[in-house]
Order: sequence, then structure tokens, then C-alpha cells
Amino acid sequence: MKLTFILAAIAIAAVFSKAEFAYTDINAVFTDSTLNCPVTGDEITGEHLSLRYIDKDIKFCNEGCVMAFKKEPAKFTDHLVCMPCNDPDGKHDISTVQNGVKYYFCSEGCKGKFEKEPDSYLKKFMK
Ligand SMILES: [Zn+2]
Ligand SMILES: [Zn+2]
Repeated sequence: MKLTFILAAIAIAAVFSKAEFAYTDINAVFTDSTLNCPVTGDEITGEHLSLRYIDKDIKFCNEGCVMAFKKEPAKFTDHLVCMPCNDPDGKHDISTVQNGVKYYFCSEGCKGKFEKEPDSYLKKFMK
């Protein structure tokens, strides 16, 4: 079961590596620690998905939850980093969508800065 999962993950990774690199690729990971999915609130044990959102790796129970999160992260986390400021002061009503993921900003000015060079901001937070 575990081996099948790993092979599937490798196959998925191979598909993704051919595509243009996206900062929001979903990675399949395995852990024994207890976590809760931010979307359903369900406890996650064992196999799950991880998504890098700005400066945090967030774990989900399945792809449906990842999709829901990407569409409206503010519904599921209060940690909304305004990337140009590097402060968690993003506002729900100042947002933009990049590669299918919504990001929030403290002001229209910061949103404009991000939209000029989104990749360089996203790269900065991928550490
Ligand atoms: Zn979930
Ligand atoms: Zn800002």
C-alpha cells in the first residue's frame, strides 16, 4: 500500500517536472505526526498532501481540500502574508490570483508590486 503510494507520487512528480515549474505544486508526503486538515478540520494521519502557501507548508487530507484552499485561503487560515511587506497583514478584499492560487495584500500598492513580478516574490518565500 505504502509502496504503491510512493510510486504514484513519483509518477505525479514526473508529470509535474515536465510542466513549467509552479510554486504551488502539490507534494505527496508521509508522516506519523498528527495534524488537522485546515479545510475539513479532520485529523490527518499517514498519507496526505502538502501545499506550499507563501511561507508555510500546509497539509491536507485530499486533493479536494487543496483545491478549496487554493481558491479561498482566507476561509481556512488567518496567516495571510502580504508578500511585498512580509507581514501577515493581508486583507480579505485585496487579493489576486496567481497560478490558480489566491494571495492577499495589505494595500492596493502592495498588490500592484506583486502583480508586476509575482515569480520573484513567490521565489523569495520558497526557502
Ligand atoms: Zn481535508
Ligand atoms: Zn503590504
